[in-house]
Amino acid sequence: MKTIIEPFKIKMVEQLRFTTREEREDLLKAAHYNPFLLRSDDVLIDLLTDSGTTAMSAKQWSALMDGDEAYAGSRSYYKFEDAVRDITGFKHIIPTHQGRAAERILFTLVGAPGKVIPNNTHFDTTRANIESSGANAIDLPNAIGLLPEVVADFKGDMDTDALEELIHREGPENIPLVMLTITNNTGGGQPVSMANIRAVSEIAHAHGIPFFLDACRFAENAMFIKLREEGYANMTAKAIAQEMFSYADGCTMSAKKDGLVNTGGFLAMNNDALAISSRNVLIITEGFTTYGGLARRDLEAIAVGLVEVLDESYLAYRLRSVQYLGDAVELNGVPIVRPTGGHAVYLDAKRFAPHLKPEQYPGQSIVCALYAHAGIRSVEIGSAMFGRYDADGRLVPASMELVRLAIPRRVYTQSHIDYVAEAVCEVFEERENLPGMHITYEAPVLRHFTAHFEPSV
Ligand SMILES: *Cc1c(COP(=O)(O)O)cnc(C)c1O
Repeated sequence: MKTIIEPFKIKMVEQLRFTTREEREDLLKAAHYNPFLLRSDDVLIDLLTDSGTTAMSAKQWSALMDGDEAYAGSRSYYKFEDAVRDITGFKHIIPTHQGRAAERILFTLVGAPGKVIPNNTHFDTTRANIESSGANAIDLPNAIGLLPEVVADFKGDMDTDALEELIHREGPENIPLVMLTITNNTGGGQPVSMANIRAVSEIAHAHGIPFFLDACRFAENAMFIKLREEGYANMTAKAIAQEMFSYADGCTMSAKKDGLVNTGGFLAMNNDALAISSRNVLIITEGFTTYGGLARRDLEAIAVGLVEVLDESYLAYRLRSVQYLGDAVELNGVPIVRPTGGHAVYLDAKRFAPHLKPEQYPGQSIVCALYAHAGIRSVEIGSAMFGRYDADGRLVPASMELVRLAIPRRVYTQSHIDYVAEAVCEVFEERENLPGMHITYEAPVLRHFTAHFEPSV
């Protein structure tokens, strides 16, 4: 059979609320043209993020009921620990309430002024946690990863020559660890090859530097390796994931992604001394070592989610459903970042609305049009999110102007995605009418969450 179907059926449904175009125009105005300020009840299809928006399975919901809410030594913790260790092989498994809590613990301990931490591309919370420790977060993406039009198998790879050069320049003693984000979220959800994971690991270890994975989308990355990298077609996604982790000394993980849960995460590692220090910080900031800021029932749901996420019928459907949306809009000439990654389709706003300059925030204009036209919520990843001002107060634009359509896991059906594709194509047909946007209010940091915009006339 050629058709890849949703590998699940639906037992419980959540009603969608329809609004009229007129209502949406008013709602958008009231939200200052910033979809972060909309109420989700006013959104029909919510593609703001794939983080924590997963639909849990019947098995996960029943596991929740089996949660053992003991403060210490909970049975649920040991199930969670077994599930994480089975995949990662790490000696110490430390639960946290989400990914950034794992990052905070890790970088509180290894970061400091004068230290440098390289990654293919740091996720924004990772960068923020490194910088708040005083250390310097460095991105070393492969050149091809920065070219939205170029199709390549592993655009998430790290530039290993640049890594060697950085270690040489900064000195291994100033690099507490090397990180690799799989898949590379900021770079468009692009996968990292096993060859690159192995090469980065070898370089780090040759200089005595530990190597950590930011493993949020490890299962999607493993499936890309199975489908694209020579020698892996006949291995299971689980065995591939195990091999990926075997090259690393530890990882941070947001279970809100490939843990298939609504909240949770962990920090894992082999180093005994670092684990002791990490658990001490955990107890101060998150909770005791056998729950780390989570209800114990949440650990049950993660333990089940980590098994379900490596089911290859799920992963084939997952990658295909993202590609399906990308193909559908591309067929109508809509410019996107190619090829589609594991969790989102990125519209290339520069080519979508070439009449708008970066300082007119073309991505924000498309985001607003998609909501007004069809009730779809997406997010600008461009100069509204990453733009800075120079000394004269002029905008220094981001390198790319993108609109991200992130696909929640197991939530929307093919007809929902058909609807999204249709809406994107219709907004594209009317692209000459997209207005420029300007900012009327902004916070000093992370302004995109709360900024107010207005269409320019
Ligand atoms: C989401 C994410 C994080 C942070 O995880 P939270 O659970 O949101 O705190 C870190 N790295 C990557 C690559 C992510 O996608």
